[in-house]
Amino acid sequence: MGDIAIYPGTFDPIHFGHMDIARRAAQLFGRVVVAVYYRPNKRLLFSTEERVALAREALHDISNIEVRPYKGLTTTFAESLGARVLVRGLRVVSDFELEYQMALTNNQLAPQLETVCLMTRKEYAFLTASILKEIFMLGGDVSTLVAPHVVAALTRKRESLACPGDSVTLVSLRD
Ligand code: ADP
Repeated sequence: MGDIAIYPGTFDPIHFGHMDIARRAAQLFGRVVVAVYYRPNKRLLFSTEERVALAREALHDISNIEVRPYKGLTTTFAESLGARVLVRGLRVVSDFELEYQMALTNNQLAPQLETVCLMTRKEYAFLTASILKEIFMLGGDVSTLVAPHVVAALTRKRESLACPGDSVTLVSLRD
C-alpha cells in the first residue's frame, strides 16, 4: 500500500514496544511518520529535541520511517502530511477505552483519517515509558526494554537529575 500513516505519541523515551509498532506499521504502509508530540499533558523526562533524536536513532534503519515533532492537533498535522491512517498501539484492555475515545474524536475532526490499532506483542504488553523510567531511576536494568543509545541517554539524564545526597528525583511516573 502506498498510504502515508502517522504514528503519534509522546515517546518519552522510545522503547521496544513503540519500535515494534513502528516497524510493523512500516510493513503495512508506504510511509510512516512517527510524530513526536511537543507538549503532552504529562510531565516529561526528555525535551522534544531529545525525544526526536532518540526515536530517529532507534528507527534509522527503516527507510520508509521518518520522525518529526509536531504541535497542535494530531489531525491537523496528519492532514498537512497527507496521511490517511493514524496508527496506535494497544497493550491492555484499559488502553482500548482511551484509544476508542480518541479515534471517535479524531474521526469527528478528520473523517478521512482512519485509526488503525496494532496489538502489542506479548513480551511488551506490560511496557510503558513510565514503568521503564521508574525501573531505571531506581537502579534497575532496562537493557531488554530500550535500545543501547536510550540506556545511555537515560544514564546521562539520571546523572543530571541526581540530588547531591543519595536520592534521585522521579520526574514522570504515569503515562
Ligand atoms: P501517548 O502519550 O500518545 O500515549 P506514548 O508514547 O505513551 O504516547 O505511546 C504512543 C503509542 O504507542 C500509543 O498508541 C501507545 O498505546 C503505544 N504504545 C506504548 N507502549 C506500547 C507497547 N508496549 N506496545 C504497543 N504499543 C505501545
